[in-house]
Parts: sequence; C-alpha cells; structure tokens
Amino acid sequence: MTRREFLRRAFGVAASLSGLPSLLAAGGAESPRSSKGDSPPMTVPALSPQPADAPDPRILVVSDSPDYYSTRDLRLLYPDLVDEHDLHKGPVTPALLAPYRRLWTLIRRAEDAHLLDYQVIRDHARRTGARVVSHLFEYARGSDLEFRFRNAASTRHKLRVVAASDPCTRGFSVGDEVYWYRNSSDIDEPPVGHYAYREVVCGDDPAAGRRVLARSTITGGAMWIEERFPSGGVILAYDLFSPLSLVHTQGDPWILDRGTFAKYLPAGNLFGGTVRYGRYQTRKLSVEELLDLIRSFATRPGLAAKVEVRDEGPSSEGTPILSLRFGNDQGPRFQLVSVKHGMEWENVYGTLVTVQALLKGDVLDLERFCVVVIPLLNPFGYRHGCRHNANGVDLNRNLYRNWDRFRGWTDEISEPWIFDYKGPARGSEPESQIELRLRDEPNRLCYLDAHMMAGAPILGGSGPNPDVLTRLGQQIVANLKNRYLIRYLDDPSPRQLALESYPGQPGAEPSGQSPVYSIWYENIGQLPDVHATVLQTDLAAEINLTAMRGIAESVT
Ligand SMILES: [Zn+2]
Repeated sequence: MTRREFLRRAFGVAASLSGLPSLLAAGGAESPRSSKGDSPPMTVPALSPQPADAPDPRILVVSDSPDYYSTRDLRLLYPDLVDEHDLHKGPVTPALLAPYRRLWTLIRRAEDAHLLDYQVIRDHARRTGARVVSHLFEYARGSDLEFRFRNAASTRHKLRVVAASDPCTRGFSVGDEVYWYRNSSDIDEPPVGHYAYREVVCGDDPAAGRRVLARSTITGGAMWIEERFPSGGVILAYDLFSPLSLVHTQGDPWILDRGTFAKYLPAGNLFGGTVRYGRYQTRKLSVEELLDLIRSFATRPGLAAKVEVRDEGPSSEGTPILSLRFGNDQGPRFQLVSVKHGMEWENVYGTLVTVQALLKGDVLDLERFCVVVIPLLNPFGYRHGCRHNANGVDLNRNLYRNWDRFRGWTDEISEPWIFDYKGPARGSEPESQIELRLRDEPNRLCYLDAHMMAGAPILGGSGPNPDVLTRLGQQIVANLKNRYLIRYLDDPSPRQLALESYPGQPGAEPSGQSPVYSIWYENIGQLPDVHATVLQTDLAAEINLTAMRGIAESVT
C-alpha cells in the first residue's frame, strides 16, 4: 500500500466512524476583509524569551549510525546546532565532549555496544552539568541493568508516567497514560498485531540519582529513566530507536501516528523550551465530564481572579453551553470561542489550558481587562465527532455576512448535514444566537475563534490596526522556534511546527480592517486519538496568549 493509500484508508476509517464528510476539509472562520487603512503606531510586544537555559546550545550526537533518522530530525529541530561523532571513527573521550553541554547517544546495533564507554558520558554529565539524552540500550548496558525488547502483539502499548520531574516530564502528569510503541506493520487501523517496545528492568536508585519517570502499563519495565547529579547534570534515557512506524515514517512524529508521537518531547524539554503550556489529555472526556471540568473553575483555589461560570443557554441538542467570565467586567473585553465545529474537539483542551494560564495573572492585567471564554460552543458536534450542530448546520456559516448569497463550498445541494450547510436563516441556531449576544457585549477588544485542521497551522483576522496582527504572527512564529517537529499528512519529511500563514506574511492574504480584533486560527487536529494533545494544547495556548498579550499591550 502506498503512503497516500494508507492516508486515505486511515482517514476513511475515521470518517466512517464519526460520520464526517471529510476530516481534511476544515473551514476557517468568517474574516471580514476590507482595504488596509492608515494605522496609528503600535506598541511592539517584546518577544517572550525561550526558556532554554543551557549555556551552550550545541548538541553532540554520539552514535554508531551516523546520519540516522534521529540525527536528521535533530538537525531539523535544532538547525545549525547539531554535531555528530561516529563511534566507528573513534571512542568518546572527555576532550571530545568538553565543548558540549548537550549530548544525544544512540547505539542501534548490539555488536557496536563496545564502541561506547558509557562511563565517559556519565562522568561528563556529573562533572559539567551537561544534559544527556540516551537510548535505553546503551544506558542499560552502561548501568548494569537488563534491557528488553517486548512484543505487545495487537495492543497499542502505553507507558504510565509515575514521577514528575521538571523539565523532562513537562506537559505530562503523574498517572498519564501515553501511547508508546513501534508499529512494524504497514497499516495502523485496525490493530494488526505488530506493536513492540523497549524497556529496562530497574527501580529508583537514590544514591545514584536515578529515578524512573515512566513505566510500561503492560510489563512494568522502566521506559523513561532520569539520572540527576548535584552539578545540575541530567541523563534522560528512553527509547530513541523505535520508529513510530517502520514503514511510514521511520521515526519522525507523524500526525496520525499514536505510537511515539511524544518521542521528542522529553528530550526537547530537557534540551530546553519544548513544552511551555501544553498538557497531555489521557482520554477524550465526555461532554458531561467537560461541563463539570468547566464548572470547577468557579471553585478552584489560588486563581488570580474570581471566575463566573455562566449558563449561556441550551445548545441545539439541549446541552448547556457554558462560559467562563473573569477580570474587570467594565474593562476592554477579550472573547475566546472554541469547538464551533465539533470534530475539532481538541481545542476545548487548548482553550482550558489557556484559561489556566490566564488565571495565573501574569499574562493580562485582570483588574483592567475582561475575559469571556466559551470552550465548547458545539457540544453535539463534540459528542458525535461531527462538524455540524444537532440540526445539521455548519455554525461557521450560519452567521456569514453574505449569508443570503452563500452557496456552500462542496456539495450539489444545500440541505442539513452537507459539508457547510448555512442553516434555514441567518442566526437560526441557538449556538449562533449565543455568539450574536457575545457580539453585543460592551467594550469588545478582541474575538478569538479557534479551529482545527489536519495540516499545518494558520492564523488570520482583521482589526483596527492590521500591523498588530502581523506582529502577532511573527511573534508566535518566533516563540515556536526549535520546539516541535511534525510531519503533516503527505509531507515527505518532517518540519518544525510553525504558523505557515498569518496576516502580513508574504504571500498571505492581507488582513482586513475592523473595529474589533477578530482573529481565527487553525490548530492541528481532528485526530482520531489523544496522542498529540501536548502539542495541540501548547500551540493553542501559545497563539491565544501571544495574541491577548500583544493586543492588550497595543492599547496601553
Ligand atoms: Zn472549524
């Protein structure tokens, strides 16, 4: 089967499960456009510093397999920062390691194991405070521990996070269960019995500074192992060899692969800066669980502002639509809406991660600004994994300015459940009426509309000063640099996560002018599982918070 055939089949399976016309076709939000006018000078927001704290960011890869996939991936993730030492050309020595504070070791072949004296690596971390990421194999061998290759048969293997350690486990919490396997079949759906993983038999060893951070949910073996030294040095050992899928991607985090989508996250955290806000979601919650989670903000201790949870009225299926409201109700108002399209379900978690960050109080001055958030505008669509509400209406067309003339993009006829059915009348739907009420609230400064598609993320919008939107796009791109590697759908090779299009960017459509900043974005999503939720929630929060901070500063 070709890669393209596989994609079609994988998406076909997902689409038939959820009744979607197409997972690939996602609609952007309405973005009124007009000619660009004269703009007052804006306040340029300062770039948020990357939390990379290593004194020297260069990385030395030590391997028996030069230019292996992981080395190529690292070169994409950290451009111009990766050197490589081929163990066949000589041993590692303290002098060789001396310039480096970040090391990556990978022995792929057991017969090459004698080429690496792991004690030299460990001594370097202990003496210099270096951060080391090692494959389980040579770590086990260099620690007199048993290394095992395991067959999980048709079970998609998971690890369980058993200890939190900053920064390595950032994005994950104790108890999280994360897909972690190699798939050596050429098809991932349905399971065909070719899942495998690697583990080490070990426990914690406080005297050696060793702690197991994650274990197999099947066999209990150690999967993420950390060793810390008083110098600040850290060794993080995990499976660096197993590709996600031997056939499809050989090792890079491909958007549809559950197995080791998180592969570079612990390493990226240790090397600096990958996960800033994101949170793994162990499973997709039910609508009822989500509503409870949203309600819980009203009673959480330690928040920077009191949160009102307001029932905005029933959805088209009768489920309450809840808003979270906090800050100065008289102040300039930010509004954030997500999951207008139900199969773009992951954004509800990105929005809630954003709310959590806002309620720490250091992004917006909550004594001045007001925040209104509707995390789940389309509960029916979320529940059933479809784009529409319970009446078969595309809520992102129901309020189109040119509703009278809008014809629909894809289908021959215009009736409920076609891809983008606009509804029987403009604003006919209860969800749309809630949105219309939001538009009537006072002092609106910014409206953020969060969407998802299965390709690279994009952002668009309009506002009183289009230059602010351009600057926001540039800042988001800068903030995302050297954090995530991802391969979208038909991509022949992975690339860094970045906004691929934003207002003012060369080639992008110009942003329009409107009295309120109206921003929409497409996160990466509509995926069949939770495997990408750290990245998805991190990206959502990065976009939301950068936009809110930048727009707040622009009106100061
Ligand atoms: Zn959408």
